[in-house]
Amino acid sequence: MLNLYLTPLHHPTYQPSTAQVQTLKEFLIFQQIIHPQPIEAEQAFAFSSGLESKQLFNDDAIEALLPAELSFEKLEIVQSEKPLFLPRSREVAFELACKQCHDSIERSDFYKALDQYEKYLSLDILQYPFTIECISCQMNLTAKQIDFNQEVAWSSAWIFIEEIGSTRLNHRLIKEISRIWGHELGVIAEHIEDELDDFSQDFHWIKPSRLSRPRKNKWKKSTHR
Ligand SMILES: [Zn+2]
Repeated sequence: MLNLYLTPLHHPTYQPSTAQVQTLKEFLIFQQIIHPQPIEAEQAFAFSSGLESKQLFNDDAIEALLPAELSFEKLEIVQSEKPLFLPRSREVAFELACKQCHDSIERSDFYKALDQYEKYLSLDILQYPFTIECISCQMNLTAKQIDFNQEVAWSSAWIFIEEIGSTRLNHRLIKEISRIWGHELGVIAEHIEDELDDFSQDFHWIKPSRLSRPRKNKWKKSTHR
């Protein structure tokens, strides 16, 4: 299962204004990328895919994927008072390493430190940025000194796209969304290996997501709210 975050990659405190968020919502509805009504009344900024959701994808993806795959389960505009680490899911198969000594950092150690940090940050006990001590070289590492093996960011506002068919997005559209957002947006992928994916790999089958619309997310991971 693939989720994406669109967010500034190097501006942890950037927040779009209320007017910019509203303009973006109207733009996405006008383009029919999202459904005009939110999924639930309490979640004013969470939408299911619209009739023209395929516009999100680049031409390669449109040619390669089935029409049902050119969509997503949910698009949500999320804002946080403090910068949070993206991707939010703990089911991502990260391979973390210290850039100073090149030893690996245990995922569980990283998440333990991250949990502490985000808790104290929210209580105003700590200031951004996050640091973690490398148990091999004893250096106090900031995120920039950790090799995450994929794009990550700390961010206070992002567009979360859940269960999307491809990472191959339409650059012109992302540019336009960035313009409205008021800051250049990068893409952070959150690839979650679920049981069906494992099954299909074991048996060298076509991934189920290639056959039908991605199924409902069974992982509980609403930590980004
Ligand atoms: Zn180290």
